[in-house]
Parts: sequence; C-alpha cells; structure tokens
Amino acid sequence: MDFKLDLLPEEKRNHECLSGVETLSFGQMRSDHMFVVDYEDGEWKDGRIVPYQDFSIAPGAMVLHYGQAIFEGAKAFQRDGEIFTWRFDKNAERLNESARILCMPEIPVDLQVEALNRLLDVERNWCPGMDEASLYIRPFMFATQDSLGVHPSAKYTYCIMLSPSGPYYAGGFSNTVTLLVTEKFHRATPGGTGAAKACGNYAASLRAQEFAKSKGCGQVLYLDTTNTFLEEVGAMNHFHIMKDGSIVIPEFTDTILKSITSQSILELFPNARQERIKISEFLKQVESGEIIEAGGFGTAAVITPVGKYVTDDGKEYVVGNGEIGEHTRAIYEKYVSMQRGETEAPEGWLVQVPRY
Ligand SMILES: *Cc1c(COP(=O)(O)O)cnc(C)c1O
Repeated sequence: MDFKLDLLPEEKRNHECLSGVETLSFGQMRSDHMFVVDYEDGEWKDGRIVPYQDFSIAPGAMVLHYGQAIFEGAKAFQRDGEIFTWRFDKNAERLNESARILCMPEIPVDLQVEALNRLLDVERNWCPGMDEASLYIRPFMFATQDSLGVHPSAKYTYCIMLSPSGPYYAGGFSNTVTLLVTEKFHRATPGGTGAAKACGNYAASLRAQEFAKSKGCGQVLYLDTTNTFLEEVGAMNHFHIMKDGSIVIPEFTDTILKSITSQSILELFPNARQERIKISEFLKQVESGEIIEAGGFGTAAVITPVGKYVTDDGKEYVVGNGEIGEHTRAIYEKYVSMQRGETEAPEGWLVQVPRY
C-alpha cells in the first residue's frame, strides 16, 4: 500500500512538545499527526498520515449505534535519538483476534506495523526519552457504514494515534491499590466478548469501577460468572506471588484478555505459570501468608501492585505487609529495563523504527 503524507509545515509543528511531559497524567497529550486507513468494498484503501484532527462520520455510522469498535495499547521508547517499539506485532495480531470476535475485517499485521513505523518516523520529536516516560500508541478500528440494521458494517476506519506520556506513577513506583472482590458485577461471560479489546467491554465496566470507588477501593477484582474463579483486575491481568517466589497468572479463557505483558512475563520468568485460581483459596492463602505479593499486569502501568483485597461483606485481606514487595519490584525493574534497552530483551521484542 502507498502511504500518503499530508504533514503540517515545519513551523506549525509543536517543537516545545515535550516540555512538562513528566508531570502529565497518562494519555492526556497528543502528537501532531495520526495514521488513518479506510475499509470499503472488501479492501483497505487510502492509507495516510495526516494532522491530528476530528473525524467526520455519519450520524447513522454503525459504531454509534451497535458499538463495533476495538482498540489496542502499546508503547514506544526513545534511546539515544532512536525510537524503539515494544512487541507491536503482538498488538497487531491481537487487534485481528478482536476483529474476528466482533465480525470486523482483519488488517494485515505488516500493514499495521509499517503504518506505525512511518507515523513514528514523522513523530520522532514526540517520543520522550526520560526514564519511565514513553510514547503511548493507541490503534483502533470502528464501523462507519450508515445503516440502522443490526449486521456487521461494510465500512470501517482504522487509526493510530499517539500520546506522549510521563511516568504512569506520578510518585514513582511506590503505591499499592486496594481491590474490591465483588460478586455483584462481572466483566465478561463465557461465549461473550471478554477476550477481545472491544470498546463496549470498557463501557460495561464503568459501573463496577464506580461502585468500587464508592467502597473506597481503587479497582475491581473480577470473578467468573459463577463467582468461583479469579479473573482480572480492572483492565489488567491479575498475578500473585507465592512464598517460594513463583509467579501465578490466571489461565487464559475466553473471559480473560490475553495480556502481552503477562505473556512476556511467562516467557521471561521460568518460575511463572498459569492456573485456574479459586477465589476462596486465594483469599485463604493471602490470609495465611502463603501468597506474599499480588498485582495487575498491563501495558500502561506495566505493574500495579495490590496491597489489600476487600470482599462484599467488608472483610479485608492484606497482602504481605500491604506494601510493594521485593519480587514485584524485581519483575518491574527487569521488564522496564528491557523496554528501555538497558538490558537485552529476547530477539524481536524491542524493534528500532527505520528512517524512511
Ligand atoms: C489491555 C488489557 C490488559 C492488558 O494487556 P496488555 O497487552 O498487557 O496491555 C488486560 N486486561 C484487559 C481487560 C485489557 O483490556
């Protein structure tokens, strides 16, 4: 595919762009340009890099009515003036898995990767280089056919936008969250869309999230629909660490999103494994000290450590001493030092963006 470039003139680009990024909360800032490509008549057409701007879509665009929309989240890092992406091919593959679940067209992985590389090449100035900062990458696809019948749309738009972001944790990697273990809300059902990064899943999770906040908790620990097994933490995979240092992540089912962070940890740490985890046993083991640390895995924060679990009846289970444990800290350090290129990552994980 040809990539058309419609770039801002040099003087209109924001050259002071990254001043203050260290204090910006995650995902707030935008870069100058975005990538857009449209799907019509069975093919992807008109790939283009254009200034970040509003879309024009019909009021009858199917995304606004029936919610055919999916997204991804990835990161790029700057080191010595070069830009590197982290496992973006995995994100591109997962977008296609989400597309299949939502009856949307796949978009070739090569096309997604080249589009991102060309966009990043244009936006080099927007990739922060300071420790803990990154250029957050948000690819997404939505249905644009003007139709009120309930069926898969015939037209779509795929876009990649970029958000220069400061450290996810304003105060450094230092806080733990409290999770509400609730039987009142569920994120995903068997046979549903939980294994897709489908926008509607996040709309559906807001009520539970607000409920958790009203109980003084930062996030929800989601259980399966039988309230037997532990599934996810908000929009992250869950993990815990046993007394022997082993890392345990819930087995991937069709109600759990396959986190690329989790998959990477499973590849990097020989003592990491996946299991179906009974919530009753989990809480008992937190109480007995068999489980010493816990948290969530996801691209945005990498790791969100959990200090405490609170159940619907108000019972509290503190993990370890309620603070970030040494294993959690070591996993975090190892992971981010690979992303920053300070220690060597497995072949093909950290990929340099070419100069076109
Ligand atoms: C995005 C997401 C994750 C984390 O996946 P990563 O690939 O590690 O960013 C986990 N759970 C849900 C529900 C998600 O949406």
